[in-house]
Amino acid sequence: MSSADALPDGPDLTAGVPLDRLPDGGMLQGHAFGEPVLLVRQGASVFAVGATCSHYGAPLNEGLVVGDTVRCPWHHACFDLRTGEALRAPALRPLSCWEVVHRLDQVFVIRRRDVEFPKQSGPGREAARQPSSIVIVGAGAAGTAAAMTLRREGYDGRVTLIGSEPSAPYDRPSLSKDFLAGTAPEEWLPLHDPLEYDSLGIRLVLGAEVSRLDTSNRSVMTADGRAFPYEAVLLATGAKPVRLSLPGAELPHVHYLRSLADCRGIIAQASSGRRAVLLGAGFIGLEVAAALVERGLEVHVVAPERQVFARVLGTELGDFLRSVHEQHGVVFHLEETAASIAPDRITPAGGKALPADLVVVGAGVRPETHLAERAGLALNNGVLVDEFLRTSAPGIYAAGDIARWLDRRTGRRLRIEHWVVAERMGQAAARNMLGQRQPFDIVPFFWSRHHEVTVSYVGHAESWSRVEVTRSPDSREWLATYSSGDQAIAVATVGRDRASLAAELEFEERNRRTRDRGSRRSAIGASG
Ligand code: FAD
Repeated sequence: MSSADALPDGPDLTAGVPLDRLPDGGMLQGHAFGEPVLLVRQGASVFAVGATCSHYGAPLNEGLVVGDTVRCPWHHACFDLRTGEALRAPALRPLSCWEVVHRLDQVFVIRRRDVEFPKQSGPGREAARQPSSIVIVGAGAAGTAAAMTLRREGYDGRVTLIGSEPSAPYDRPSLSKDFLAGTAPEEWLPLHDPLEYDSLGIRLVLGAEVSRLDTSNRSVMTADGRAFPYEAVLLATGAKPVRLSLPGAELPHVHYLRSLADCRGIIAQASSGRRAVLLGAGFIGLEVAAALVERGLEVHVVAPERQVFARVLGTELGDFLRSVHEQHGVVFHLEETAASIAPDRITPAGGKALPADLVVVGAGVRPETHLAERAGLALNNGVLVDEFLRTSAPGIYAAGDIARWLDRRTGRRLRIEHWVVAERMGQAAARNMLGQRQPFDIVPFFWSRHHEVTVSYVGHAESWSRVEVTRSPDSREWLATYSSGDQAIAVATVGRDRASLAAELEFEERNRRTRDRGSRRSAIGASG
């Protein structure tokens, strides 16, 4: 917004802009009727949609146009330029859509357009018989995205979304960032207006722990004795923090962070404390460190590794992030583990006691597979699912942090704990429950924020043989490419959002070529 006239930035698009200001494939941000609007030219067509991402409000003109879509620079959501529809999580709401007319060599935005979204097409959607009722266990990223997608796909059977937390589905990543730091109010957390579930006919059952899947009677049982019959079920129970077992680990000032309730507990403790110790230097642990610094606490981090983030990001980028935390006053005690915790301090195995009014443990998570295990599903570090996210039992699907799926491209199994991956998996599972055969073969993406620095990561590299790093002299921009042999398998960036989107596109193209080669081979096999 420019402060002088309180209008969004850029030209008034209702007054017209010359077409030659908009090269083919180009974008121009302006405004119409007081709202920020993005013009995008594709050949002879010019589209006009809302200019900010419906997820976190990123400026879409800094993103990437791919065919008839625009991708968000911050968290890689994707929107249809013709309809404004949110095609890919993490965006869950459409962009506004505007009518454009051409007069002489100018384009004008003339009015807002109401859009009816066409049903998405997918192989097998017409022919498929659909289940009469679907129960989703776990009202987090994957479960909520699945419930919404079922309705979006026109499914009119019963949908029940059961979650053990008392709160309606919310934005979990914010718990270690703005919400914890105190810069985002709690009203921003819900993923959807609570009335939306009602209006879509999604039965939301909160505060209910599912205790059993009765696969012979096809019923989901809750701990309070209720039974929910299903024809298809989606397990989306997420993950739970690994808990410490050392003296003092059960003291009330020792916290873990997975849920909104956990986060409220940390905030309450932080408001009366002065010194916090983080046990663990993973992504969530260090995001919490940054948020607590923002709340004015003195923060120490105790972790066993020698270099932070080295295993995921490599040493150069890892060391940079550590230095960012240090510049903000975080003190690291690396190659160190906690031996015991007392009400006012923690004692590391090899060092001097550190005063602590608040201890937050970030020692990783384990997939929450108890239900699946009791139901006799095939497990191995998660619930095993095929490329259509089907478990080993008929009618039962799994998605999100618990699901270890078969990746078509590499032929390997992957289990990935990222918000966007979980949401997209929930969406794909929903479509597959409706009989569309939609293989889950996205390029994984995650982001993580450390003070003023956000890391974006596309692809997946459990290990790599080479990492190539380029950075700007002032270290504001980073691009690290992780390769296995001569093939890039993941790219991490800081301040290079377009490069991150371009890398994602390149990986998608490679996946598509691999898929096409596979289909050609099977066609040749079938005909020969
Ligand atoms: P969840 O979102 O955890 O949802 C699972 C739900 O199932 C939970 O509400 C749980 O209570 C419920 N449940 C479990 N068992 C039962 C049962 N028996 N009956 C009923 N309900 C049950 N990822 C990123 O990519 N970027 C980030 O910046 C990022 N930040 C994060 C910050 C925090 C603090 C946390 C905790 C995670 C963050 N993640 C981030 C990871 C991301 O949130 C997870 O990958 C994602 O939430 C997984 O989605 P899910 O649906 O599998 O599980």
